[in-house]
Order: sequence, then C-alpha cells, then structure tokens
Amino acid sequence: MSNLRDELIEHGILADGGAPGLYHRGGAFENVVSGIEALFRSLDPYDSPRWVMSPVTTAQVLVDTDYVESFPQLMGLLDGFHGDAREARTLADTAHDGGEWWQQLDATGLALRPAACHGLYPLLAGRQMPPGGGHYEISATCFRHEPSDNPARMQTFRMQEFVVVGTPEEARAFRDAWLERALDAHRSLGLVVEAEAANDPFFGRASQMMSQGQLEKELKFEIVAPIAQETPNAISSANYHEDHFGTSFAITTSTGVAESACFAVGLERSALALFRRHGVEVSSWPTDVAARLGL
Ligand code: ATP
Ligand code: ZN
Ligand code: MG
Repeated sequence: MSNLRDELIEHGILADGGAPGLYHRGGAFENVVSGIEALFRSLDPYDSPRWVMSPVTTAQVLVDTDYVESFPQLMGLLDGFHGDAREARTLADTAHDGGEWWQQLDATGLALRPAACHGLYPLLAGRQMPPGGGHYEISATCFRHEPSDNPARMQTFRMQEFVVVGTPEEARAFRDAWLERALDAHRSLGLVVEAEAANDPFFGRASQMMSQGQLEKELKFEIVAPIAQETPNAISSANYHEDHFGTSFAITTSTGVAESACFAVGLERSALALFRRHGVEVSSWPTDVAARLGL
C-alpha cells in the first residue's frame, strides 16, 4: 500500500502543518468533511439544537469532567505573557537565541478543548432535563497531545457529536440506535466498517481497572475502518457515560441524576477513510457516494 499521508499531501488534499499531527486542509478535503457532517445531521431523528463549542475552554472544565486524572497525557493548556517591557525584551532575546523562552510565560487558565461534548455539560449544570431527554448536536475542533506520523492521529481534529442527557434507558437506547444508524451510513458511503467494544486510554495506575470496567459494562463502541495502516482506526464512537457528567454538573431528570450518551463522528478520520477507500481523485468517486456527500 502506498503511503496515504504522502499521497494526500502530493495531491494537495492535506498540507503539512509543521509538526507531527498538524495539517492544513485543502478544499477537496473540506468538501468531503462538510458532506459527512450534513449526512449525519440528516440522520438525527430529533432535529436537535446545534452548538459549535469554542475550541478553547476554561482549564476548570478539565477538572470538572475529570479529564485531569483520566487523560493528563492528552491535555494542552495555554500560557500567556504577563510581564513588563523589560521582561518582554528578555523573552524575545531568549527566543531569538534559541533559549527556552516559554519558561517566561504563565498560565492563562485556558485550555484547548479535548472533546466536543464536554462543552455541553457545563451549560446544563443544575438543570432538570425534560421527559424524553435533552438532545443536542455538538461539534468542536479538539486538541489531543498525541503527536504521530499517522494521518489518522492528528493533534487537532473535529468531532461532530449527537448527545442525549436523560434517564439511563434513554441514554442506552440513544447510543444503540446511533450505532446502528451510523454503521448503515458509513456503509452507504462504500466504507468497510465494523463495530467493536472499546476502551479509552486512561492514564496511570487505575487505567487497567477503568479500561476493564468500560469493556465489561460495554460503555464504548467504536466503528472502525482502514485508514493509513492495516489495523483499522475508529472513525466514530458511541459512548454511554452513565451518570458521570450528570453527577459532576448536577443535571437531573424527574427520576434522579441524569445519565448521558454521545455518538461522536471523527470528521477527519471519516474523510480519510473515504480517501483511502475511493482514492485521492474525488471526481472519480462512485456517483452514489458523491451524491450522498453533495459533491
Ligand atoms: P482512538 O482510540 O483512536 O485514540 P478515541 O477513543 O480516543 O480514538 P474518542 O475519544 O471516542 O476517540 O473520540 C471520538 C472520535 O474522534 C473517534 O472515534 C475518532 O474518529 C476521532 N478521533 C479521536 N482521536 C483522534 C485523533 N487523534 N485524530 C483524529 N481523529 C481522532
Ligand atoms: Zn462525547
Ligand atoms: Mg484516543
């Protein structure tokens, strides 16, 4: 198999962003991303209100969602310069001399957003969800510090998520229905996909136990497809959070603490799987696939 990353860059579909996992996206890539996003939106049975979350969050949200203990290795926090003119000169001199000028910066209290739906729960804090649950379409540009030469593993990428916050039954049913719907949708685009039980890469000593629990309770399923390597990658995931966010943000239903579930479409990964499957010339993609994506 030829190297997908090189091929995409040669054809101007992606451009190297200057560090592993950073890319600029060409028009052809963006058209495919927009098509995927519109296709999944058309499958949403709830006509959910749509929010594009800020790509930058307060660092406190990483604490409130327990991201700090679960995935500290993936976080990206923002520093800023708070000094005076003299310190600014020292900083610039250090920088131009190849020194560690970032040592002269301080925390801003801001972080890059690691997951789209984590922007929603703070907005619902303290609220009671209506009967049937609250349904939302949430998207965001996310950052995860996992540099790689595999184009499927970017450091910034977009997620389109469909989220429910409601009773345990509503959360589970929502998650299962999206998994089926999405398998069909990816297959309608010619992708060879499978659903697998999965776990998150929890950090540290508790990781084994957390991952095992997630697998045993079948909290996470991934839809996988081949991208740049023989081992397929997750192009979307269906996640049942139990009452994790409901408890953290005091969200309720008429019967107790709210539970939640999300179905997350990895927009870049889904587009990459299509380029892998149908080739780098979008004009020669099967006409039914092109039509479904509005290309
Ligand atoms: P992986 O196991 O591949 O690291 P994940 O379990 O961390 O994926 P989720 O947290 O479920 O992924 O994120 C939802 C979706 O976002 C994934 O199914 C995938 O399509 C996409 N995604 C996750 N990490 C990346 C990344 N580094 N680059 C591009 N897309 C990603
Ligand atoms: Zn989510
Ligand atoms: Mg991951």
